[in-house]
Amino acid sequence: MEDKILGIHHITAIAGEAQRNYDFYTKALGLRLVKKTVNFDDPGTYHFYYGNENGTPGTILTFFPWTHVKPGRVGTGMATDIGYAVPKGSLDFWTKHFEKYQVRFGQIDEQFGEQILRFEDPDGLRIQLIEPKVEDTRTPWETSEINKDVALKGFHSIVLTLRNIKPTASILTDIFGYKLLQQDGNRYRFVTDTVENAAIVDLVEEPEVTHGLVAGGTNHHVAFRVKNDEILMHFHDKIASAGYNITPKIDRNYFFSLYFREPGGVLFELATDNPGFAVDEDVNTLGTSLKLPAQYEAERATIEKVLPKLIQ
Ligand code: ZN
Repeated sequence: MEDKILGIHHITAIAGEAQRNYDFYTKALGLRLVKKTVNFDDPGTYHFYYGNENGTPGTILTFFPWTHVKPGRVGTGMATDIGYAVPKGSLDFWTKHFEKYQVRFGQIDEQFGEQILRFEDPDGLRIQLIEPKVEDTRTPWETSEINKDVALKGFHSIVLTLRNIKPTASILTDIFGYKLLQQDGNRYRFVTDTVENAAIVDLVEEPEVTHGLVAGGTNHHVAFRVKNDEILMHFHDKIASAGYNITPKIDRNYFFSLYFREPGGVLFELATDNPGFAVDEDVNTLGTSLKLPAQYEAERATIEKVLPKLIQ
């Protein structure tokens, strides 16, 4: 097994009202809720995972929804824009669809030779739909309104906005095995050749922009994917020897994780493919019932009372 980072595993953001978040991601964007659980560090709060049918790494966007969250601020030292790959020719569908759902979106634009449509979720989280140069072959989740010809395939890229890109670029190249592919002005595109999709990290250098505030409508962390626990621990040692504070291995039920703050200020996680989302419910019924980690099962009745009601 190669000791390699396999692109993005998941991205985690902070949202406001749970129902609004659920409705937007499953109806307006057509993703599947693959896990309804709680924040393991704050079990009175939901943790939603949206992805494709199985919640394959590279398709998973997760949220902590807090009803009365204060809005965050986009700035430096954070992941600012999430990129999803969509089929070629689908952006016209999406502009019409966004009008119908009253989504705030921009003009169709071009970036690094790819068509791109920027929009915001109901909390102001910045997302992009991108038609990749090379067609993304992943099978998407489909809904009655969003079929496979237009559906989101999973992540294309993540954008990190930084005061100075150099220290973060070193993490990507020297530790994670990414290479600089292209540069356009203050935007530097890094890519790993270990996977075909979710392989891109764009670093945008904004020396004058103030630090962002991580709260509602912003990204909390970016998780990079590794095959298994053994490779996870290989990276633990590699990152610790480079002088960074990194957590011990943490069991997140659906994957094992490590966290460290990269020098540009963004919280990075490394997460394993194993065991995946089918570990505690059948693939056919993923996301339909509240799943709790073993340590909270005894408090289920209290937790269910505290969590906002969710109509699915
Ligand atoms: Zn995470």
